[in-house]
Amino acid sequence: MRWAIVPAAGCGMRSGAPKNKVVMPLLGVPVLIHTLRALIRGGVDAVALCGAPGELTALETLTRAYGVDAAVKILPGGQTRAQTVALALEALEADLPQSVIIHDAARPLASADLIAACLDAARQGAFAAAVPVRDTIKQARAQTILHTPDRASLWAAQTPQGGPYGALLSAYRLAGADGFLNEATDDASVCEHAGMQVRILPGEPENIKITQPCDFTIAQALLAQREGIGRPAGAMRVGTGYDVHRFAPDRALVLCGVQIPFEKGLLGHSDADVALHALMDAMLGAAALGDIGGLFPDTDMRYRGVSSMKLLAQVCQRVGQNGYALENADITIVAQQPRLMPYIMRMRENIAGIAGLPVDTVSVKATTTERLGFEGRGEGISAQASVLLRRMV
Ligand code: MG
Repeated sequence: MRWAIVPAAGCGMRSGAPKNKVVMPLLGVPVLIHTLRALIRGGVDAVALCGAPGELTALETLTRAYGVDAAVKILPGGQTRAQTVALALEALEADLPQSVIIHDAARPLASADLIAACLDAARQGAFAAAVPVRDTIKQARAQTILHTPDRASLWAAQTPQGGPYGALLSAYRLAGADGFLNEATDDASVCEHAGMQVRILPGEPENIKITQPCDFTIAQALLAQREGIGRPAGAMRVGTGYDVHRFAPDRALVLCGVQIPFEKGLLGHSDADVALHALMDAMLGAAALGDIGGLFPDTDMRYRGVSSMKLLAQVCQRVGQNGYALENADITIVAQQPRLMPYIMRMRENIAGIAGLPVDTVSVKATTTERLGFEGRGEGISAQASVLLRRMV
């Protein structure tokens, strides 16, 4: 088995936490999902995705919604990147990996060719993807230059890095035992510290790590070029959606991906998540891409009982491939019963997680109709949604 480890324990997915770049969208799909797909496309058999202990469920929801869960094992990470990799290596022992590559969650643009070359290299020995430095590097103290190293011998390390599993595990154990783990900033340095020879494998200039806001612009432009998209950025589009489902016995009541305890649920071909249906129609409407009935026909058995969270991930992706990203969403659920207030925050978090948005850009409201109409008589639930999309490329 050829494993990849993706440390993402600092990614801050919970609401209130500062939003990390790896869950923000690039062309409608979170950076992390692009990264996982790149690894899978390049031939990795399984990915150990390491998250902060409180965020494992959110990572699970996200990978399931984007259909990469089968190849991904979610593990708790540590305090630092190096500690996270050390924990993951220990946790993989039972899976008997032959080789392991470690890849930054914030490098979504690694090509399948690069990943494949790294997997080959990892079987033979420790390696690090790196590119020659372009700028002249200066060594300085107090903003005065002390020394100009010869550029010909300098490389900028990227990821993937890795090697044979057993060798990596021993190197990390040694670094853990002698305190080097607290200093290490990449995997190659842990191997070097253990006296291993680390080979440089030519990386790619496009394989950038998203750290600054300008990196987003560059990554988005590179992805758009790959996918053949190109129109003026910045334009805003508004969309609305409306949906109704009737109540039926022996059905689960699911609203915005949250299963709500109630005596009955909504009837439909999918999970009948009326609120997400309204939201998806609003997004497709804003981009003039039709509606969910056209995209996910109820004659198609693939969508029978499907979680609408999965469909929402597909809609985000479709809208993103057309150059748009969700700016904000506002949903109103009209139900006489049950009381939805206790579930509203989780509903907002669910949508924000899939769309890669801060939770304060997603609003979910619930109202009754004072017992008037079909909602008021408890025959069904309706939902309305408004969204704003922004043209990204
Ligand atoms: Mg519907």
